[in-house]
Amino acid sequence: MSQIETTRIVLASRPDGEPKPSDFRVERAPVAEPGDGEVLLETLFLSLDPYMRGRMSAAKSYVKPVEVGAVMEGEVVARVVASRLAGFAAGDVVLARSGWQTHAVAKGEAIRKAPAAAQPASMALGVLGMPGLTAYVGLANIGKPKPGETVVVAAATGPVGSAVGQIAKLRGARSVGIAGGAAKVRALTDEFGFDVALDHRAADFAEQLAAACPDGIDVYFENVGGKVFEAVLPLLNTFARIPVCGLVAHYNDTAPPPGPDRVPALMRAVLSKRLNVRGFIVYDFSDDIPDFEREMTAWVRDGKVRWREDVVDGLENAPAAFIGLLKGANFGKLVVRVAS
Ligand code: NDP
Repeated sequence: MSQIETTRIVLASRPDGEPKPSDFRVERAPVAEPGDGEVLLETLFLSLDPYMRGRMSAAKSYVKPVEVGAVMEGEVVARVVASRLAGFAAGDVVLARSGWQTHAVAKGEAIRKAPAAAQPASMALGVLGMPGLTAYVGLANIGKPKPGETVVVAAATGPVGSAVGQIAKLRGARSVGIAGGAAKVRALTDEFGFDVALDHRAADFAEQLAAACPDGIDVYFENVGGKVFEAVLPLLNTFARIPVCGLVAHYNDTAPPPGPDRVPALMRAVLSKRLNVRGFIVYDFSDDIPDFEREMTAWVRDGKVRWREDVVDGLENAPAAFIGLLKGANFGKLVVRVAS
Protein backbone atom coordinates (compact mmCIF):
# COMPACT_ATOMS: atom_id res chain seq x y z
CA MET A 1 0.00 0.00 0.00
CA SER A 2 1.17 3.54 -0.70
CA GLN A 3 0.92 6.20 1.96
CA ILE A 4 -1.70 7.96 -0.12
CA GLU A 5 -5.35 7.96 0.90
CA THR A 6 -8.23 8.98 -1.29
CA THR A 7 -11.14 11.01 -0.02
CA ARG A 8 -14.19 9.89 -1.93
CA ILE A 9 -17.89 10.60 -2.11
CA VAL A 10 -20.08 7.54 -2.40
CA LEU A 11 -23.78 7.10 -3.07
CA ALA A 12 -25.24 6.52 0.40
CA SER A 13 -28.86 6.03 -0.72
CA ARG A 14 -30.97 6.37 -3.84
CA PRO A 15 -32.79 9.72 -3.83
CA ASP A 16 -36.56 9.96 -3.91
CA GLY A 17 -37.10 13.14 -5.93
CA GLU A 18 -34.55 15.88 -5.32
CA PRO A 19 -31.27 14.46 -3.96
CA LYS A 20 -30.48 15.33 -0.33
CA PRO A 21 -27.04 15.75 1.27
CA SER A 22 -27.67 12.49 3.17
CA ASP A 23 -27.82 10.60 -0.16
CA PHE A 24 -24.02 11.11 -0.28
CA ARG A 25 -21.30 10.01 2.16
CA VAL A 26 -17.66 11.05 2.44
CA GLU A 27 -15.17 8.24 3.03
CA ARG A 28 -11.42 7.86 3.22
CA ALA A 29 -9.60 4.80 1.90
CA PRO A 30 -6.03 3.80 1.08
CA VAL A 31 -5.00 3.85 -2.59
CA ALA A 32 -3.04 0.93 -4.00
CA GLU A 33 0.28 1.45 -5.80
CA PRO A 34 -0.19 1.59 -9.59
CA GLY A 35 0.57 -1.75 -11.25
CA ASP A 36 2.05 -2.35 -14.69
CA GLY A 37 0.24 -0.23 -17.31
CA GLU A 38 -1.40 1.94 -14.62
CA VAL A 39 -1.04 5.47 -13.26
CA LEU A 40 -1.79 7.04 -9.90
CA LEU A 41 -3.92 10.15 -10.37
CA GLU A 42 -4.61 13.21 -8.25
CA THR A 43 -7.88 14.90 -9.25
CA LEU A 44 -7.60 18.58 -10.11
CA PHE A 45 -11.16 19.26 -11.35
CA LEU A 46 -14.30 17.14 -11.12
CA SER A 47 -17.09 17.77 -13.63
CA LEU A 48 -20.63 17.88 -12.24
CA ASP A 49 -23.27 17.10 -14.89
CA PRO A 50 -27.04 16.65 -14.88
CA TYR A 51 -26.76 13.03 -16.16
CA MET A 52 -25.39 12.03 -12.75
CA ARG A 53 -28.94 12.25 -11.34
CA GLY A 54 -29.89 9.33 -13.60
CA ARG A 55 -26.92 7.29 -12.33
CA MET A 56 -28.19 7.71 -8.75
CA SER A 57 -31.48 6.04 -9.63
CA ALA A 58 -32.10 2.33 -10.16
CA ALA A 59 -34.44 3.03 -13.12
CA LYS A 60 -33.45 1.35 -16.38
CA SER A 61 -31.41 3.67 -18.60
CA TYR A 62 -28.77 3.64 -21.31
CA VAL A 63 -26.03 2.87 -18.75
CA LYS A 64 -25.93 1.05 -15.43
CA PRO A 65 -26.62 3.02 -12.25
CA VAL A 66 -24.00 3.66 -9.57
CA GLU A 67 -24.36 0.98 -6.88
CA VAL A 68 -25.26 2.13 -3.38
CA GLY A 69 -21.94 2.39 -1.53
CA ALA A 70 -19.92 2.94 -4.72
CA VAL A 71 -18.00 6.09 -5.67
CA MET A 72 -20.14 8.61 -7.58
CA GLU A 73 -19.27 8.54 -11.27
CA GLY A 74 -17.82 11.48 -13.08
CA GLU A 75 -15.18 12.74 -15.46
CA VAL A 76 -12.15 14.50 -14.02
CA VAL A 77 -9.04 16.35 -15.06
CA ALA A 78 -6.21 14.83 -13.05
CA ARG A 79 -2.46 15.06 -12.62
CA VAL A 80 -0.36 11.92 -12.92
CA VAL A 81 1.42 11.44 -9.59
CA ALA A 82 3.19 8.18 -10.47
CA SER A 83 3.25 6.25 -13.73
CA ARG A 84 3.94 2.68 -14.75
CA LEU A 85 2.36 3.35 -18.14
CA ALA A 86 4.43 3.99 -21.27
CA GLY A 87 3.91 7.49 -22.66
CA PHE A 88 2.70 9.00 -19.36
CA ALA A 89 4.93 10.64 -16.76
CA ALA A 90 4.42 12.25 -13.38
CA GLY A 91 3.05 15.77 -13.92
CA ASP A 92 1.05 14.95 -17.08
CA VAL A 93 -2.51 16.29 -17.05
CA VAL A 94 -5.07 13.74 -18.21
CA LEU A 95 -8.81 13.13 -18.52
CA ALA A 96 -10.19 10.15 -16.62
CA ARG A 97 -13.51 8.84 -15.39
CA SER A 98 -12.32 8.18 -11.85
CA GLY A 99 -15.31 9.88 -10.20
CA TRP A 100 -15.88 11.95 -7.10
CA GLN A 101 -12.56 11.32 -5.34
CA THR A 102 -9.21 12.94 -4.74
CA HIS A 103 -6.96 10.08 -5.90
CA ALA A 104 -7.36 6.94 -7.98
CA VAL A 105 -5.39 4.34 -9.86
CA ALA A 106 -6.35 4.14 -13.55
CA LYS A 107 -5.48 1.81 -16.40
CA GLY A 108 -4.06 3.12 -19.66
CA GLU A 109 -7.25 2.61 -21.66
CA ALA A 110 -9.20 4.72 -19.14
CA ILE A 111 -7.15 7.91 -19.52
CA ARG A 112 -6.09 10.27 -22.25
CA LYS A 113 -4.02 13.43 -22.26
CA ALA A 114 -6.02 16.64 -21.75
CA PRO A 115 -6.09 18.78 -24.92
CA ALA A 116 -3.26 21.33 -24.95
CA ALA A 117 -5.76 24.08 -25.83
CA ALA A 118 -7.56 23.54 -22.51
CA GLN A 119 -6.11 26.45 -20.52
CA PRO A 120 -7.27 26.29 -17.76
CA ALA A 121 -7.39 22.49 -17.81
CA SER A 122 -11.03 22.53 -16.62
CA MET A 123 -12.03 23.63 -20.13
CA ALA A 124 -11.52 19.98 -21.09
CA LEU A 125 -14.65 19.23 -19.05
CA GLY A 126 -16.72 22.00 -20.64
CA VAL A 127 -16.52 23.83 -23.93
CA LEU A 128 -13.63 21.68 -25.21
CA GLY A 129 -14.99 18.50 -23.68
CA MET A 130 -18.14 16.40 -23.43
CA PRO A 131 -20.70 19.25 -23.15
CA GLY A 132 -19.20 21.20 -26.06
CA LEU A 133 -19.16 18.00 -28.11
CA THR A 134 -22.81 17.39 -27.22
CA ALA A 135 -23.84 20.76 -28.61
CA TYR A 136 -21.70 20.28 -31.71
CA VAL A 137 -22.91 16.80 -32.66
CA GLY A 138 -26.56 17.44 -31.79
CA LEU A 139 -26.63 20.40 -34.14
CA ALA A 140 -24.47 18.82 -36.86
CA ASN A 141 -26.40 15.55 -37.08
CA ILE A 142 -29.96 16.39 -36.04
CA GLY A 143 -30.58 20.13 -35.68
CA LYS A 144 -28.83 21.04 -38.96
CA PRO A 145 -29.58 24.78 -38.73
CA LYS A 146 -29.61 26.67 -42.01
CA PRO A 147 -28.85 30.38 -42.48
CA GLY A 148 -31.80 32.51 -41.43
CA GLU A 149 -33.53 29.76 -39.43
CA THR A 150 -34.55 30.17 -35.80
CA VAL A 151 -32.85 27.95 -33.22
CA VAL A 152 -34.18 27.84 -29.64
CA VAL A 153 -32.37 26.38 -26.64
CA ALA A 154 -32.90 26.46 -22.86
CA ALA A 155 -30.38 25.97 -20.03
CA ALA A 156 -28.67 28.40 -22.37
CA THR A 157 -25.95 29.73 -20.05
CA GLY A 158 -24.85 26.14 -19.33
CA PRO A 159 -22.03 24.47 -21.26
CA VAL A 160 -24.33 22.68 -23.73
CA GLY A 161 -26.84 25.49 -24.29
CA SER A 162 -24.29 28.31 -24.59
CA ALA A 163 -22.39 26.33 -27.22
CA VAL A 164 -25.62 25.50 -29.08
CA GLY A 165 -26.56 29.18 -29.37
CA GLN A 166 -23.10 30.25 -30.51
CA ILE A 167 -22.62 27.41 -33.02
CA ALA A 168 -26.10 28.13 -34.44
CA LYS A 169 -25.02 31.75 -35.00
CA LEU A 170 -21.78 30.61 -36.64
CA ARG A 171 -23.92 28.53 -39.01
CA GLY A 172 -25.91 31.65 -39.93
CA ALA A 173 -29.04 30.99 -37.86
CA ARG A 174 -30.84 33.25 -35.42
CA SER A 175 -30.54 32.06 -31.82
CA VAL A 176 -33.08 32.44 -29.03
CA GLY A 177 -31.76 31.53 -25.59
CA ILE A 178 -33.80 30.71 -22.49
CA ALA A 179 -32.47 30.82 -18.94
CA GLY A 180 -33.63 31.32 -15.36
CA GLY A 181 -33.21 34.75 -13.75
CA ALA A 182 -32.17 38.26 -14.82
CA ALA A 183 -28.38 37.81 -14.55
CA LYS A 184 -28.37 34.72 -16.75
CA VAL A 185 -30.72 36.31 -19.28
CA ARG A 186 -28.42 39.34 -19.53
CA ALA A 187 -25.40 37.09 -20.09
CA LEU A 188 -27.15 35.37 -23.00
CA THR A 189 -27.08 38.49 -25.16
CA ASP A 190 -24.11 40.35 -23.64
CA GLU A 191 -21.70 37.45 -23.22
CA PHE A 192 -22.83 34.71 -25.58
CA GLY A 193 -24.31 36.79 -28.40
CA PHE A 194 -27.81 35.27 -28.56
CA ASP A 195 -30.18 37.39 -30.67
CA VAL A 196 -32.94 37.19 -28.06
CA ALA A 197 -32.87 36.07 -24.42
CA LEU A 198 -35.89 35.05 -22.32
CA ASP A 199 -36.53 34.06 -18.72
CA HIS A 200 -38.51 30.81 -18.43
CA ARG A 201 -39.64 31.89 -14.96
CA ALA A 202 -41.61 34.89 -16.36
CA ALA A 203 -45.38 34.52 -15.94
CA ASP A 204 -45.92 35.37 -19.63
CA PHE A 205 -42.99 33.26 -20.88
CA ALA A 206 -45.04 31.49 -23.59
CA GLU A 207 -46.21 34.84 -25.02
CA GLN A 208 -42.65 36.21 -24.90
CA LEU A 209 -41.37 33.16 -26.77
CA ALA A 210 -44.05 33.51 -29.45
CA ALA A 211 -43.10 37.19 -29.90
CA ALA A 212 -39.39 36.26 -30.10
CA CYS A 213 -40.06 33.73 -32.88
CA PRO A 214 -42.23 35.58 -35.43
CA ASP A 215 -41.24 33.08 -38.15
CA GLY A 216 -41.72 30.04 -35.91
CA ILE A 217 -39.03 27.65 -34.64
CA ASP A 218 -36.95 25.53 -37.03
CA VAL A 219 -34.64 23.87 -34.50
CA TYR A 220 -35.47 23.31 -30.85
CA PHE A 221 -32.46 21.85 -29.04
CA GLU A 222 -34.22 20.11 -26.16
CA ASN A 223 -32.26 20.36 -22.89
CA VAL A 224 -35.05 20.75 -20.35
CA GLY A 225 -38.60 19.61 -21.20
CA GLY A 226 -41.32 20.87 -18.86
CA LYS A 227 -42.96 24.24 -19.42
CA VAL A 228 -40.36 25.30 -21.96
CA PHE A 229 -41.26 22.42 -24.26
CA GLU A 230 -44.97 23.16 -23.85
CA ALA A 231 -44.36 26.76 -24.98
CA VAL A 232 -42.17 25.62 -27.89
CA LEU A 233 -44.49 22.94 -29.32
CA PRO A 234 -47.14 25.22 -30.90
CA LEU A 235 -44.41 27.38 -32.47
CA LEU A 236 -42.57 24.59 -34.29
CA ASN A 237 -42.47 24.94 -38.06
CA THR A 238 -43.23 22.18 -40.54
CA PHE A 239 -40.10 19.98 -40.83
CA ALA A 240 -38.63 21.39 -37.60
CA ARG A 241 -35.79 19.35 -36.04
CA ILE A 242 -35.64 18.54 -32.33
CA PRO A 243 -32.41 17.01 -31.03
CA VAL A 244 -33.56 15.62 -27.67
CA CYS A 245 -30.46 16.03 -25.56
CA GLY A 246 -31.75 16.26 -21.99
CA LEU A 247 -34.85 16.75 -19.85
CA VAL A 248 -33.40 18.33 -16.73
CA ALA A 249 -36.77 19.76 -15.63
CA HIS A 250 -37.89 16.15 -15.06
CA TYR A 251 -34.84 14.46 -13.55
CA ASN A 252 -36.20 14.77 -10.00
CA ASP A 253 -39.80 13.85 -10.93
CA THR A 254 -41.40 11.15 -8.82
CA ALA A 255 -44.70 10.95 -10.75
CA PRO A 256 -46.08 11.99 -14.16
CA PRO A 257 -47.19 15.64 -14.32
CA PRO A 258 -50.85 16.27 -13.45
CA GLY A 259 -53.35 17.19 -16.12
CA PRO A 260 -54.64 15.69 -19.35
CA ASP A 261 -52.69 13.10 -21.34
CA ARG A 262 -50.60 15.20 -23.73
CA VAL A 263 -49.33 12.34 -25.87
CA PRO A 264 -52.08 12.49 -28.56
CA ALA A 265 -51.53 16.24 -29.12
CA LEU A 266 -47.78 15.72 -29.25
CA MET A 267 -48.04 12.89 -31.76
CA ARG A 268 -50.51 14.90 -33.86
CA ALA A 269 -47.94 17.70 -34.06
CA VAL A 270 -45.17 15.20 -34.92
CA LEU A 271 -47.31 13.85 -37.76
CA SER A 272 -48.92 16.97 -39.17
CA LYS A 273 -45.74 19.08 -38.97
CA ARG A 274 -43.49 16.15 -39.94
CA LEU A 275 -41.26 16.87 -36.97
CA ASN A 276 -37.90 15.17 -36.70
CA VAL A 277 -37.66 14.36 -32.99
CA ARG A 278 -34.50 12.41 -32.27
CA GLY A 279 -32.93 11.55 -28.95
CA PHE A 280 -29.18 11.17 -28.84
CA ILE A 281 -26.34 10.46 -26.45
CA VAL A 282 -23.18 12.37 -27.19
CA TYR A 283 -21.07 9.29 -27.94
CA ASP A 284 -23.51 8.15 -30.66
CA PHE A 285 -21.51 10.52 -32.82
CA SER A 286 -17.93 9.84 -31.76
CA ASP A 287 -16.84 9.85 -35.41
CA ASP A 288 -17.31 13.63 -35.25
CA ILE A 289 -14.75 14.10 -32.45
CA PRO A 290 -11.85 15.12 -34.75
CA ASP A 291 -14.06 17.72 -36.51
CA PHE A 292 -15.28 18.99 -33.16
CA GLU A 293 -11.77 19.32 -31.75
CA ARG A 294 -10.55 21.17 -34.81
CA GLU A 295 -13.50 23.57 -35.16
CA MET A 296 -14.21 24.21 -31.50
CA THR A 297 -10.55 24.78 -30.62
CA ALA A 298 -10.31 27.38 -33.39
CA TRP A 299 -13.61 29.06 -32.43
CA VAL A 300 -12.56 29.33 -28.78
CA ARG A 301 -9.08 30.57 -29.68
CA ASP A 302 -10.55 33.23 -32.01
CA GLY A 303 -13.17 34.34 -29.46
CA LYS A 304 -16.05 33.12 -31.66
CA VAL A 305 -17.28 30.76 -28.95
CA ARG A 306 -17.20 32.05 -25.40
CA TRP A 307 -17.55 29.93 -22.28
CA ARG A 308 -18.26 30.44 -18.62
CA GLU A 309 -17.35 28.30 -15.63
CA ASP A 310 -18.81 28.06 -12.15
CA VAL A 311 -15.98 26.76 -9.95
CA VAL A 312 -16.75 25.34 -6.52
CA ASP A 313 -13.81 24.72 -4.19
CA GLY A 314 -13.41 21.46 -2.30
CA LEU A 315 -14.62 17.93 -3.00
CA GLU A 316 -16.76 18.01 0.15
CA ASN A 317 -18.88 20.72 -1.50
CA ALA A 318 -19.70 18.56 -4.55
CA PRO A 319 -23.03 17.18 -3.23
CA ALA A 320 -24.49 20.64 -2.50
CA ALA A 321 -23.26 21.97 -5.83
CA PHE A 322 -24.77 19.02 -7.66
CA ILE A 323 -28.13 19.39 -5.90
CA GLY A 324 -28.08 23.07 -6.96
CA LEU A 325 -27.23 22.22 -10.59
CA LEU A 326 -30.54 20.42 -11.03
CA LYS A 327 -32.43 23.59 -10.13
CA GLY A 328 -30.30 26.21 -11.81
CA ALA A 329 -28.01 27.36 -8.99
CA ASN A 330 -24.99 27.08 -11.30
CA PHE A 331 -24.04 29.84 -13.71
CA GLY A 332 -21.91 28.23 -16.41
CA LYS A 333 -20.15 24.88 -16.55
CA LEU A 334 -20.10 23.51 -13.00
CA VAL A 335 -16.74 22.09 -11.89
CA VAL A 336 -15.29 21.32 -8.48
CA ARG A 337 -11.67 22.33 -7.88
CA VAL A 338 -10.43 19.34 -5.94
CA ALA A 339 -6.73 20.31 -5.86
CA SER A 340 -4.87 23.29 -7.27
P1 NDP B 1 -26.38 23.15 -17.20
O1 NDP B 1 -25.06 23.55 -16.65
O2 NDP B 1 -27.04 24.05 -18.15
O3 NDP B 1 -27.31 22.89 -15.92
C1 NDP B 1 -28.64 22.56 -16.00
C2 NDP B 1 -29.51 23.81 -16.14
O4 NDP B 1 -30.82 23.40 -16.40
C3 NDP B 1 -29.65 24.63 -14.87
O5 NDP B 1 -28.55 25.49 -14.64
C4 NDP B 1 -30.93 25.40 -15.15
O6 NDP B 1 -30.61 26.60 -15.84
C5 NDP B 1 -31.67 24.49 -16.14
N1 NDP B 1 -32.93 24.02 -15.56
C6 NDP B 1 -33.09 23.27 -14.45
N2 NDP B 1 -34.40 23.05 -14.23
C7 NDP B 1 -35.08 23.69 -15.23
C8 NDP B 1 -36.45 23.83 -15.56
N3 NDP B 1 -37.40 23.27 -14.79
N4 NDP B 1 -36.77 24.51 -16.67
C9 NDP B 1 -35.83 25.08 -17.45
N5 NDP B 1 -34.49 24.99 -17.18
C10 NDP B 1 -34.13 24.29 -16.08
O7 NDP B 1 -26.31 21.68 -17.83
P2 NDP B 1 -25.54 21.10 -19.11
O8 NDP B 1 -25.28 22.20 -20.09
O9 NDP B 1 -24.42 20.28 -18.63
O10 NDP B 1 -26.64 20.11 -19.70
C11 NDP B 1 -27.80 20.61 -20.37
C12 NDP B 1 -28.69 19.44 -20.74
O11 NDP B 1 -28.00 18.58 -21.65
C13 NDP B 1 -29.12 18.55 -19.57
O12 NDP B 1 -30.44 18.14 -19.76
C14 NDP B 1 -28.18 17.36 -19.68
O13 NDP B 1 -28.71 16.20 -19.09
C15 NDP B 1 -28.07 17.24 -21.19
N6 NDP B 1 -26.90 16.53 -21.67
C16 NDP B 1 -27.10 15.49 -22.51
C17 NDP B 1 -26.07 14.80 -23.09
C18 NDP B 1 -26.35 13.71 -24.06
O14 NDP B 1 -25.43 12.99 -24.43
N7 NDP B 1 -27.58 13.56 -24.52
C19 NDP B 1 -24.67 15.13 -22.74
C20 NDP B 1 -24.55 16.30 -21.87
C21 NDP B 1 -25.63 16.95 -21.35
P3 NDP B 1 -31.54 27.93 -15.71
O15 NDP B 1 -31.21 28.51 -14.36
O16 NDP B 1 -31.10 28.75 -16.84
O17 NDP B 1 -32.94 27.49 -15.79
